[in-house]
Amino acid sequence: MLQGKTALVTGSTSGIGLGIAKSLAKQGANIVLNGFGDAEGPKAEIAALGVKVAYHGADMSKPSEIEAMMKFAADTFGRVDILVNNAGIQHVAKIEDFPIERWDAIIAINLSSAFHATRLALPAMKAANWGRIINVASIHGLVGSADKSAYVAAKHGVVGLTKVTALENATTGVTCNAICPGWVLTPLVQKQVDAKAAAMGLSNEEAKKVLLQEKEPSMQFTTPEELGELAVFFCSAAGNNVRGAAWNMDGGWTAQ
Ligand code: NAD
Repeated sequence: MLQGKTALVTGSTSGIGLGIAKSLAKQGANIVLNGFGDAEGPKAEIAALGVKVAYHGADMSKPSEIEAMMKFAADTFGRVDILVNNAGIQHVAKIEDFPIERWDAIIAINLSSAFHATRLALPAMKAANWGRIINVASIHGLVGSADKSAYVAAKHGVVGLTKVTALENATTGVTCNAICPGWVLTPLVQKQVDAKAAAMGLSNEEAKKVLLQEKEPSMQFTTPEELGELAVFFCSAAGNNVRGAAWNMDGGWTAQ
């Protein structure tokens, strides 16, 4: 379905980003990976799906590096047809204790990076009259949780940015939507499981159960593969007129 298209997925060396990159690659899209840590493993996993893959290590907190990454993608594959703004970090603390540097980093990586990548991707998408911008927000783009001020503020911002991007391009073939996952068991969430286990003297399995019980009626983690399939749907012809949605995949979290 996506043969000949190129997808750039930020923060795709791990977790949800890698899951989405794999789902898009299975549909035939060439992939530009980004993120920290080992890139060779993820590159090999994508290449094994029979598509072309490239990697750029831009730090998404730095606009100049985002610009270099977008140029690299265009130089390598011609243009970016599908942009998945996924890179994100978390920090958990009360507002009065929240480290200023962590606030700034979360706003930069989880929110401003999506603005920068989007503004740089749009001209080529509009010229082709086809494009998909998928912002990985969170259920925290729709509701709050204590101790996550920067994350919740950034993710609500991402949902707002999604709506404006969709509206500004509503008469074109370029759509923009947000994905709002509940709990997904990636390294980002395992850290919170570990913190809970340590604080409450629980095993890993018990801490996972407590985490789910607080918010997620299904008592199940959403998987990166499931989120990848939602991204594929947004890229399909059936997604042509889905614009500005903030689509939850949250085990019932926000139905309560
Ligand atoms: P993860 O820690 O597994 O992956 C994060 C990715 O972002 C990694 O590839 C990492 O290298 C990259 N990254 C971090 N800082 C970066 C930077 N400055 N520049 C470039 N890349 C950077 O986390 P994940 O759970 O897969 O999270 C992916 C996205 O999904 C995030 O935006 C997160 O907020 C969102 N999300 C996660 C959950 C969850 O439960 N895990 C739920 C809702 C939303």
